[in-house]
Amino acid sequence: MAPPDESALPAPDGSTGLDPQDWDSFRSLAHRVVDDLVDHLAGRRDEPVWRAMPDDVRRSFDGPLPRTPAGADVAYAEVAERVIPYSMGNDHPRFWGWYMGAGHPVGSLADLVASVINPNLGGADHSPVLVEQQVVRWCAEAAGYPTTASGLLVGGASEANMVGLAVARSHRLGPALREHGLPDGRRFAVYGSTEVHSCHRKSCELLGLGASALRQVPVDDDFRLDLGALRSAIDADRAAGIEPLAVVASAGTVNTGAVDDLEAVADLCEREGLWFHVDGAIGGFLGLSSHAATVRGLERADSLALDLHKWMQAPIDVGLVLVREEPAHRATFSVVPTYLAHAPRGISAGEVWFTEYGLALSRGFRALRVWMGFRAYGADAFAAVIDRTTAQARRLAGLVDAHPELQRLAPVGCDIVCLRYTAPGLDDAALDAVNHEAVIRVQESGIAVVTDTVLRGVVAVRVAIANHRTRDDDLDLFLEAFVRHGRDVVAETAQVTTSPGAAPTAGGTATAPS
Ligand SMILES: *Cc1c(COP(=O)(O)O)cnc(C)c1O
Repeated sequence: MAPPDESALPAPDGSTGLDPQDWDSFRSLAHRVVDDLVDHLAGRRDEPVWRAMPDDVRRSFDGPLPRTPAGADVAYAEVAERVIPYSMGNDHPRFWGWYMGAGHPVGSLADLVASVINPNLGGADHSPVLVEQQVVRWCAEAAGYPTTASGLLVGGASEANMVGLAVARSHRLGPALREHGLPDGRRFAVYGSTEVHSCHRKSCELLGLGASALRQVPVDDDFRLDLGALRSAIDADRAAGIEPLAVVASAGTVNTGAVDDLEAVADLCEREGLWFHVDGAIGGFLGLSSHAATVRGLERADSLALDLHKWMQAPIDVGLVLVREEPAHRATFSVVPTYLAHAPRGISAGEVWFTEYGLALSRGFRALRVWMGFRAYGADAFAAVIDRTTAQARRLAGLVDAHPELQRLAPVGCDIVCLRYTAPGLDDAALDAVNHEAVIRVQESGIAVVTDTVLRGVVAVRVAIANHRTRDDDLDLFLEAFVRHGRDVVAETAQVTTSPGAAPTAGGTATAPS
């Protein structure tokens, strides 16, 4: 790498070299960016949801580190040309892939403000800390959880879930765990259903329990944790000398949106002396909606993981962990070195230092996008999103049930519908391939984005609505396109398997899209 060219460095004229020499030209670029983005949002419905990247766009990201300035105008022009049009598409009304929110405009404005003032939410005495504290309390209230809980905004529910389990572990093992690590010769178990999110496996690995400590017990016909199986698993572990530590109940599973019987799990945890953790990444805010009864018992959790960037529509990424007993939370993470000592006055004052509740020291101002969202729209607007998308899922399920070529594979949980295209004479493996291919074709058509999963051994197409922009007719458009592509793929598969010379592939694997 060549040394920097001294003559290219800014002259010591009072500018830092990164701030513009001329604020007015920066202002006009900033206005243009905002104008373009508002146009983008206003016209988003008429654009494809997702489009495949052309090769030249893909290759444009291969270049080496730029040592010399292109200027902010050029940098933005490249973003406008190569990034915005080929982004994921979850800001579009017909994006229902995995389980994501669409983001909301007020949250985007908050991000701009947060990034300009650029505070560090690790701690200290400044009003952004109060904003985050208020967001923690507001979210607890919205979820129906005690507002006395301690809480921390994190990157998402994966982190939130891990913090919850970390507190469970240190609560059980006390200060010796922090000093010496896991005790020799003892083994622990964490319970959840076969439908729990994969992040819990990661947590068990990273917390030193090992992935095998995660007992994934069977679900009932509605994909909810089978309580009898849970009791048997706990008994079997105790008999084998393994110490049950915590139960993870799902308030909305990622595959089907099933909500476990939280009240019953709470009772069991109480009886057995186990930590009760709720993964509320999807349904944790149902308490705000007219479906609050679904999550009765959530308020009894020892720890609760929530996601704001899913059903609650905040721009990615922001999740939240709540811990019922603040001392247990602090005792898990607090390390206060001399350079972070809290002072009675001055900027180092402040009662709550968020760094004592999690891993990160430097933390961004994620809280502002949640705070401005609640303030601008009111919490009832988010309740309305939950109610509307739930109703849309039920309506879609009705259309699927009434369609002779479609089959529904699970009860509607939260706002998730699992379905499958069917055709007479094709076995499950052939239908798996058809559905998988039809999903890809829908994505490539730009009409909608849905993704698939496997339910009870067969490919299931998931429509996970979670999108405040979706209208009923968007879902109609998808269903029509999906059936059309399903028919096409079936017809092509039949041609391939009957035409001489063309070797039929195992299980009737679909042909590549033409
Ligand atoms: C999405 C999800 C997670 C992980 O949350 P991230 O915000 O993506 O890290 C955990 N659990 C469930 C049930 C989820 O749906």
